[in-house]
Amino acid sequence: MKKIKILLVLILGIVLVTGCNIKPKTANKHTIMVTNFPCYDIARALTKDTNIEVKMLLKPGAEIHDFEPTPQDIINIQKSGMFIYVGGESDEWINDVLKDIDASSTKLIKLVDLVDLKEEEIVEGMEAEEEENEEEEEYDEHVWTSPINMITMINKIKDDVINLDSSNKDKINTNASNYIKELETIDSKIKEVVKTAKRKELIFGDRFPLRYFVDEYNIKYYAAFPGCSEQTEANAKTISYLINKVKKDKVPVVLKIELSTGNIANTIAKETNTKVLEFNTAHNITQDDFDKGITYIDIMNNNIEVLKEALN
Ligand SMILES: [Zn+2]
Repeated sequence: MKKIKILLVLILGIVLVTGCNIKPKTANKHTIMVTNFPCYDIARALTKDTNIEVKMLLKPGAEIHDFEPTPQDIINIQKSGMFIYVGGESDEWINDVLKDIDASSTKLIKLVDLVDLKEEEIVEGMEAEEEENEEEEEYDEHVWTSPINMITMINKIKDDVINLDSSNKDKINTNASNYIKELETIDSKIKEVVKTAKRKELIFGDRFPLRYFVDEYNIKYYAAFPGCSEQTEANAKTISYLINKVKKDKVPVVLKIELSTGNIANTIAKETNTKVLEFNTAHNITQDDFDKGITYIDIMNNNIEVLKEALN
């Protein structure tokens, strides 16, 4: 963390020195900057066939929790008409950046402000992360993992997007309602899978950033670590707890999340003669999928196929 702080000070120094002559009087209303894939997906859906361009800071395929902005990124944020970010632990750098730049003509949208937040949860068998400051309440930033939250967020962001390109008001409204319809279809498909499933329990041999998802559909879960813990090596106690859980409840699938080594899930699956499947939490997508225009809806449709196996 300290390393990031020092780097930010350096970057801000560069921006402030070089930034004097590029400080825009009015931002470019036709650009939306976003930090990561969920923000990108929302902005892309709303701005379809309009004059607005959406740019994602995080490179496709990159790990979201390690993101560090370049001076150019900071300049782009300052020049944009809207900046959408999640606002959780991995976005802490943004608070420092916003303190030091003039983003007064940029509409700032923080996803965690748009929905009801849940705290990170430690369930039985899970290995808690060693916190830098224990007393700090840690809420779960992965609000996008619930399709219902996605609908709420789109409804709340829609009018701000219209403000950027009011000549396309009708189009943006149609984009919003079309995307909401797709999300509602996803929601009812998941409900149907859960309703008819043999079990309502998932085992993640991995980190667990899906609290909003499982709470929405009343699914129980066990996992190696909460949220997006930086830990990737589980201790023997955690692994053996999960192995016993898989055996006892005869769970057919051990889950891992995207861009994970899958080491813990593989170990558990090998010991229990089960298989590993990937549940994509939509933090980021690969360059290949990005170029193909893969959406949150596509990701969730794949997850529904995974759920069908894991819950039966
Ligand atoms: Zn995360």
